Amino acid sequence: MPEEFDTTPGCAGRLDAEDDLAHLRDEFIVPVTPWGEEEIYLVGNSLGLQPRAVQAYVDAELDKWGRLGVKGHTEVDREPAFPWGSYEESLTDQMAALAGALPSEVVVMNGLTVNLHLLMATFYRPTQARFKVLIEDHAFPSDHFAAASQIRSHGRTAEEALVTVAPRPGEDLLNADDLLEAIFEQGDDLALVLLPGVHYYTGQVLPLVDLVEAAHEVGAMVGFDLAHAVGNIPLSLHDSGADFAAWCTYKYLNSGPGATAGCFVHERHLGRSDINRFEGWWGTDKATRFQMETVFNPIPTVEAWQLTNPAVLSMAPIRASLEVFARAGGMGPLRQKSERQIAYLDHLLNEVLAGRVESITPRTLGERGCQFSLRVIADGHTGRGVFDALESAGVSCDWRHPDVIRIAPVPLYNSFTDIHRFVHVLDGILS
Ligand SMILES: *Cc1c(COP(=O)(O)O)cnc(C)c1O
Repeated sequence: MPEEFDTTPGCAGRLDAEDDLAHLRDEFIVPVTPWGEEEIYLVGNSLGLQPRAVQAYVDAELDKWGRLGVKGHTEVDREPAFPWGSYEESLTDQMAALAGALPSEVVVMNGLTVNLHLLMATFYRPTQARFKVLIEDHAFPSDHFAAASQIRSHGRTAEEALVTVAPRPGEDLLNADDLLEAIFEQGDDLALVLLPGVHYYTGQVLPLVDLVEAAHEVGAMVGFDLAHAVGNIPLSLHDSGADFAAWCTYKYLNSGPGATAGCFVHERHLGRSDINRFEGWWGTDKATRFQMETVFNPIPTVEAWQLTNPAVLSMAPIRASLEVFARAGGMGPLRQKSERQIAYLDHLLNEVLAGRVESITPRTLGERGCQFSLRVIADGHTGRGVFDALESAGVSCDWRHPDVIRIAPVPLYNSFTDIHRFVHVLDGILS
């Protein structure tokens, strides 16, 4: 089905004209360069753009706080405000849809790394015989620190308990067979597998179902960091069988710096009383919560893992953002557009930049989301120098040590023209 792409700006214009989702760009605020042009914003994998409606959602809560004070916990008198005392509930259905999970399995709370710790408090229960944690060698540092410090909190060292799997020598991507083999090799020693859904450095998608099956076969728990996955690729988290997952909402979910994170616990673990869980008053039965008794009756959903009452002002932007995803029709149509954008950028990289820039991200659609991890191979240029020149030219992208420029055409707001402009600017820098 090779698409009819060419390298002219007219082709980008035609693709934008054919794009049913193009109007969604208007729902976001696109930063403007000092010389007054819209930035070529390709860094939604790091901080998504602000949906225009965010201001109204945040203002509604500030306004309500001013007018109603403490009554705002239970009352709303003007849309789009929502009662603070159950604010998290307003996010659950749409967030669960994006994660491919049941509403009972998803809650929005805390930050991503905080959630990883809380989930490991439940799902990493090492014994004398089974205590190892398998991660990947190039894990996001926070995930590495979280796993290593969990191990130490159980009286072991990372040296004896943390197993890492690296790409093969000379390769950039993780080999799925090597991951599976490592799981089987650790076998009875393995307590937990903690891996990303989409790798932050390379953009590689890992095969969740295969990993879950392997981990469960050897008797280990398995959890995923979906920071680069939710809002980027369609997910079937429930069907994957994963025990737990967590993700942030400021990347592909466009909910602003430090916005509250997502958390998933598989249905099979809900309502269990034989489970270790760090608990707080927001996890106990809502009907009796305010009787202020000291008997903990876990909410029969993942909400039992909540500790603290919702951070309304950093959750209001999530509501605004999830509304935009709903208007897009969810991840199905977005992924369709994304695949076309991926094919288009692949075409331009090949036609315009071959031999000067290479992408280390997998080519196969099933193994990638919208991110491209680019490496500059042109003679006489350094990756860092090219990155700086891109930034000066009005392209927002990011640099990841040691040698990768990450860009992510986000189907919610990036146009085909953005992609064309980016390649044109990069071509100019390298010429
Ligand atoms: C962005 C990201 C984080 C960030 O963690 P926070 O707790 O939100 O600061 C962690 N892990 C991965 C894989 C990420 O991509």
